[in-house]
Amino acid sequence: MDFKLTEEQEALKKEYIEFFEVEMKDAPPEFRINPSEALYSSDECWEFHRSMQKKLAAKGWLTMAWPEEYGGRGAPLIDQLLFSEVHATYRAPGIDGFGIKMFAPTLMQFANEEQKKRILPPIARGEVSYCQGWSEPDAGSDLAALKTRAEYRGGHYVVNGQKIWTTGAHRADHMFLLARTDPDQKRSGGLSVFNIENMKAPGIEVRPIKYMNGSHFYNEVYFTDLIVPEEDRIGEENAGWKSTRATMNFERSGIGGFISVRERLKELIEYTRTTKRDGGFLIENPLIRQKLAKLHIDVELGRALAYKVAWEQEKGNLAVSATLASQSKVFGSELTQRMANFSTEFMGLHGQLEASPWAPLNGIMIDAYQRCMGGNIAAGTSEIQRNIIAWAGLGLPRFN
Ligand SMILES: Cc1cc2nc3c(=O)[nH]c(=O)nc-3n(C[C@H](O)[C@H](O)[C@H](O)COP(=O)(O)OP(=O)(O)OC[C@H]3O[C@@H](n4cnc5c(N)ncnc54)[C@H](O)[C@@H]3O)c2cc1C
Repeated sequence: MDFKLTEEQEALKKEYIEFFEVEMKDAPPEFRINPSEALYSSDECWEFHRSMQKKLAAKGWLTMAWPEEYGGRGAPLIDQLLFSEVHATYRAPGIDGFGIKMFAPTLMQFANEEQKKRILPPIARGEVSYCQGWSEPDAGSDLAALKTRAEYRGGHYVVNGQKIWTTGAHRADHMFLLARTDPDQKRSGGLSVFNIENMKAPGIEVRPIKYMNGSHFYNEVYFTDLIVPEEDRIGEENAGWKSTRATMNFERSGIGGFISVRERLKELIEYTRTTKRDGGFLIENPLIRQKLAKLHIDVELGRALAYKVAWEQEKGNLAVSATLASQSKVFGSELTQRMANFSTEFMGLHGQLEASPWAPLNGIMIDAYQRCMGGNIAAGTSEIQRNIIAWAGLGLPRFN
C-alpha cells in the first residue's frame, strides 16, 4: 500500500483545514466533547449541524466519492477518507452518517433507477437526515429475529411494531427500516427494507431513552398502522437481508473514531506535561509514558487499518473489506475504551468530576468513560465482530 499523498491530495487537505479552521470558530461548545452525539443534544447544536451539512454539500465534499449521476464527483475513496480525517480532527458536524455513509451506498447497489433519482439527490444536497430502524427489544445481535411487521395490502404496506435504540429518531426526517414482510419464511428469509418518507407521519411515535448523564441521543419508535407506499420498498420483497448486510459493512468502516482518539491523546499528553504529582510532572512517570506510547501506536495502527478498508473497497474486494471493516470497528471502539479507562485512572478522583473548574480537561475524559461502552455495542457488539472475523476472515467453523 502506498501511503504518500499526491500533490493534489495535499492541496485538498489544506483546503479542508482552512475551511474548518474558520467554520468551527462559531461551533457550540458541546461539539468539543463528542461531536457525533452533540448534534442531537439541543436545538442550537442541531441547527449548527444542519447549516454545516449544507455548506459541505455546496463545497461538494459530502458526496465526493459518489458517481456524478447521483450528485457526486466520482473522486477516489481515499480522497473522501482524507476529508473524513480532517473533519474528525476539527470535531465538526455536518455529516448525516446514516444517510450519507450507510443508506446512500446501499441504494446505489440495490434500489431501482426511479428510487435512486428520487432519494439520493436530497441526501447529496445535505437537505435531509436519516435514522436507522433495525434493532428491537428482542432483536439486536440476532437482528434476523425482528418482529416488526410490514403487511402488503395492494399498492402499499401497513407497518406495526417497535424499534429501540434508534439514534436521532427525534430529529431525523426519514428512516431506513428493516421489517418482516413474510412471517412464514424463516428469520432472514422474510425481511424487506423500506425508505420511510416522513418521521412525523401518523402511525409513528418516537419516545426518548435518556443516557445516564441525562442527554437525549436515542429513542424507541412505535409503528401503529403506518402506511408505506410500495414504491418505497428497496429491492425485492423478502430480499432485504442481502442489502442490510451491505449496509452493516458501510456502517463499520471509517476513520473518525481513530482520529477522535488521536486528538484526545494530544490533550492527555499536554495534561501530563503540565500537571504535577508527588513533586514531578506526570509525563515523568514511566508507567504513564509507556501507556501513552502504547495508545499512540494503536492510533496509528487503527488509521492504517481504516485506510486499508477504503483501499480494498476501492478495488472492489468486498469480501476482504467486510472482514477488515469488522476488525476496524472492534479495534477502534476498544481503543476508545482503553484510552478512557487509562485517563480517568491516572487522573485519580479529579478525573471523575464533570462540570467543575477542578475537572481536568473540562471533564472530557469522564464523559468519554461514561459513553465508551456504547461504542462497543453499537453497530454490532465486539463479540459479534470477533465472530465475523473468525468465520469470514479466518475460515473457522460457524456455530450460529
Ligand atoms: C450508542 C448506541 C447507538 C445505537 N444506535 C442504533 C440505531 O440507530 N439503530 C438501531 O437499529 N440500533 C441501534 N443500536 C442498537 C445496537 O445495534 C444493539 O444494541 C446491538 O446490536 C446489540 O444488541 P442488543 O442490545 O439487543 O444486545 P444482545 O444482542 O442481547 O447482546 C447481549 C450480549 O450478548 C452477546 N452476544 C449476543 N449474541 C452473541 C453471539 N452469537 N456470540 C457471542 N456473544 C453474543 C453480545 O455481544 C452482548 O454482549 C445502538 C446501540 C448503541 C449502544
